[in-house]
Amino acid sequence: MKAEIDAEQLVNFEVELRDGRLELRQTGPMPEPAVRYLERHLARLTKFKTVGFWHGARSISFFDPPLPHPAGKRGLVDRLERVFCRTRKPAAATLAITYNCQADCVHCSCAPNVRRQPPLSTEQWKRIIAETVDVGTTNVIFTGGEPLLRKDIFELIASVDEQRATTLMFTNGEMLSPETCAKLVDAGLYALFISLDSPEPAEHDRLRRRPGLFDTIMQNIEHAEQAGLMAGFSIYLTHAKHAAGELDAYMELGKKVGAKEIIQFDAVPTGRLFGQMDVLLREEDREEIRQKVLATYHQDMPGYPVLTSQALVNSPQSMGCFGAFNQFYMTAYGDMCPCDFTPICFGNAVEEGVAAVWERMTHHPLWCRRHKDCRMQTPEFRAQTVDLIPPDAPMPYPIETIDAMREKKAAGG
Ligand code: SF4
Ligand code: SF4
Repeated sequence: MKAEIDAEQLVNFEVELRDGRLELRQTGPMPEPAVRYLERHLARLTKFKTVGFWHGARSISFFDPPLPHPAGKRGLVDRLERVFCRTRKPAAATLAITYNCQADCVHCSCAPNVRRQPPLSTEQWKRIIAETVDVGTTNVIFTGGEPLLRKDIFELIASVDEQRATTLMFTNGEMLSPETCAKLVDAGLYALFISLDSPEPAEHDRLRRRPGLFDTIMQNIEHAEQAGLMAGFSIYLTHAKHAAGELDAYMELGKKVGAKEIIQFDAVPTGRLFGQMDVLLREEDREEIRQKVLATYHQDMPGYPVLTSQALVNSPQSMGCFGAFNQFYMTAYGDMCPCDFTPICFGNAVEEGVAAVWERMTHHPLWCRRHKDCRMQTPEFRAQTVDLIPPDAPMPYPIETIDAMREKKAAGG
């Protein structure tokens, strides 16, 4: 049945928002299975909590372009192509536009990526961003380092055609003055996440090695709100943090300061945590988080932020691993990896172009199929990949070298 789908007909629709419901309006012939799929999908999205509105369209998460909006519709067309034509497009691309940063976090995931080499120029990034959107990305994510340390950040954001993709930023939150927030809005930024390492001010500042940062963030999230920017927190949970009940504390803090969304990442032993396996959530921790998210935070809780939980979203109960399936990560030098937490490089976008490296990544035997769980939290997967990386090796590590090591090991070498 899927082989008979006419891909050109998958664009023949618009989405309408009526009385809070997302509805499908066909504008031409569409394959019947695609219509049924879209109707079910829109009905599901309608039930999700609303994060906010952007250009009159409803957002359910900073990671998803809002609907109805052209970027949101493009995301739906890509989804249909993925389901019915088995295409692999990177819906999200995380671009580390600089590794400069005022903080010095004990867990920094990008620290080992830093090289004695200048980051890409404005023109190089603009070309890469355009290629990234062309290969199907509908969510361009600026990260670092601290992205606001780049003077051209507003120009880079503005270079994204907002009819095709939304823009999201991860920031340490220190530089969000009222003027900067206004400039981000003018540039077209959709939303931003401020990273928090603890709901306790002193612990946050200790982990970030940046005294006073927590208090600055609490002021600056107000600046974002006043400028009309959707802002939330990015947090991570280790086994110890989960045991200390940090998720609830973050949700209370988010409610208090008006955060719109919290993204909860599972701690992954990468970057400065490379090899520290004790930070991983245990399977029972992840199950507890999933149960809590579903039973509590996904219920009607006025005033609380929307919670997006990696423990749930990237689990076998939900969508599984996104790496090289519908997302990639790029270092400040153009090296492309499956995600921020997979320190394995498949090629350089400046030298080869985004499409060529994406193609290689998605055709690799270990990444060509869907993986039902987070690969970096799966011991068997780590044993074949990142566990082979020698200590102190420069990151991200080339996939060809890992492949050669695997082959040698398989041959009994
Ligand atoms: S703020 Fe981000 S980039 Fe800066 S040191 Fe911390 S984790 Fe690394
Ligand atoms: S390995 Fe997959 S699930 Fe895990 S952090 Fe990366 S993209 Fe997310």
